[in-house]
Amino acid sequence: MAKRDYYEILGVDRLASAEEIKSAYRKLAFQYHPDRNPDDPEAEEKFKEAAEAYEVLGDPEKRAQYDRFGHAGINGQGFGSHFESAEDVFSAFSDIFGEFFGFSAASRRRPSQGASLRYNLTISFRDAAKGTEVEIQIPKRDVCDECHGSGAAPGHSPQPCRHCGGVGQITQSQGFFRISVPCPVCRGEGTVITHPCPKCRGRGIVQVSKTLKVRVPPGVDSGSRLRVRGEGEPGENGGPAGDLFVVLYVEEDPVFSRQGQDLVVRTEISVVQAILGAKIEVPTLDDPVSVDIPKGTQPGKVLRIPGLGLPRLGGGPQGDLLVEVMVRIPTSVTKRQEELLREFEKLEEDRPFNRVKDFFKKAMGD
Ligand SMILES: [Zn+2]
Ligand SMILES: [Zn+2]
Repeated sequence: MAKRDYYEILGVDRLASAEEIKSAYRKLAFQYHPDRNPDDPEAEEKFKEAAEAYEVLGDPEKRAQYDRFGHAGINGQGFGSHFESAEDVFSAFSDIFGEFFGFSAASRRRPSQGASLRYNLTISFRDAAKGTEVEIQIPKRDVCDECHGSGAAPGHSPQPCRHCGGVGQITQSQGFFRISVPCPVCRGEGTVITHPCPKCRGRGIVQVSKTLKVRVPPGVDSGSRLRVRGEGEPGENGGPAGDLFVVLYVEEDPVFSRQGQDLVVRTEISVVQAILGAKIEVPTLDDPVSVDIPKGTQPGKVLRIPGLGLPRLGGGPQGDLLVEVMVRIPTSVTKRQEELLREFEKLEEDRPFNRVKDFFKKAMGD
């Protein structure tokens, strides 16, 4: 069966905000909730389908993949498993169900990976071509180094919450649901901090500005993403930290541009060099090279010099250097040059004027 469009499933348009998507999912999750639709396979199917759609559209990165490549983009990335049962949905979305329905604080304490961060880095054309190492400063939340994330002052540790007996939740019943709500005293943590760490005021997390060295491999282009593992936001409840994605923007260069892996350079020669041929120097990413301009080179001619282009990310043959030849027409000449050019003109057989004359001669049968 063909998969339905995720936006269609949630009933939102493609420009919907994160908030609209969440709210649309909340409505469907409530409508098709198994507690409200016992033994209704169709409702369960809808419940799972909505969860799958939200798993993708609720995550900015997966959503971007889906927008560009559709279902293929998601599966290609190993995202978006189809949920086997409603239970799978609950365990995958325990945090969001907690938020929607006040469910299960216990699951809130499951380890979860920290959020990914994005950093936009602008580098010069040459640094992109040759590779570089850049120091960046990223503002981020990090585990407090004073209390190592416990939130308790040195010499103290978090104590079990007496209100909920350390479970983190208390049970209530509300309409259709028998639900556990987070303990109001410990806010679901199951522990309370009697002596908060002075540095993070008991939160276990501090805002830091971290300096990182990022190695940019040669051959990157605008839009290339570098993944720095573990440098995103800290994980929750012992989960791993998220990753940092450094998104590159490559500045234009006054001399070079690129076409895929080929490096393009424009060079100018004189009319006489174009006619008679010449040897000229052309800049490359390293030392200039000498290039033979053949006799009779036309303006706009592109000469290809193998292997002097940009390196390929992840290996493979290097691109070529493309030398685009422009021909400079002098805007003024000396008297002597003009004389010689007049003489040259007289000797020129293939003048457009002659060609026109010949054409008429032929046409008139003369
Ligand atoms: Zn602390
Ligand atoms: Zn409690």
